[in-house]
Amino acid sequence: MADFDKYLESLAAKPGRLELFDAVQRAETADKTLLLLTCIDLRYPDVIHSRMEPKFHKLYDHVCLAGAGLAPVVDFGADRKPHWEQTFLEHVAISVALHSITKVVVMDHRDCGAYRKFGLLTKEDNGTSKEKAVHFQQMKRLKALLKKEYSDLEFHGILLPIEPEHDKTTGKATGKLKIETLE
Ligand SMILES: [Zn+2]
Repeated sequence: MADFDKYLESLAAKPGRLELFDAVQRAETADKTLLLLTCIDLRYPDVIHSRMEPKFHKLYDHVCLAGAGLAPVVDFGADRKPHWEQTFLEHVAISVALHSITKVVVMDHRDCGAYRKFGLLTKEDNGTSKEKAVHFQQMKRLKALLKKEYSDLEFHGILLPIEPEHDKTTGKATGKLKIETLE
């Protein structure tokens, strides 16, 4: 288990691929820009952006696909989604071209409806070690897919907790968030 804020800080501080750029500003941000892949789930936008913004303001592109790390690798079962894979990879290409990203950060979350829809988990798996294992299995498959075309890109996988706490007045996510991270 890791602390969400501390983990994001370590990502922000970690240098990525080094390249020479003409503009100083570009050079300062070149090792920090990333593409964030999250699920579409309506419980998580504030949880994620309230923590990403202080550390990665104007440093991240954001793609939302159902299931996050699962979406580009739904290549099994009766309801395959090869076009989701294509969509994701084309967005990575655009992020590389426009913003010279050096990392892809994938944020899955527990109690994910997409993992149930595609038959990988059930409600009974919520909060279990099996749930964690299935998420990281899919993330490893996505990492392999990505590395085939973008060997330079760092890959970071995160599993968010099941139900982040919110302030009942403001609706804002509060408190420390314990996450699981892909080794
Ligand atoms: Zn989800």
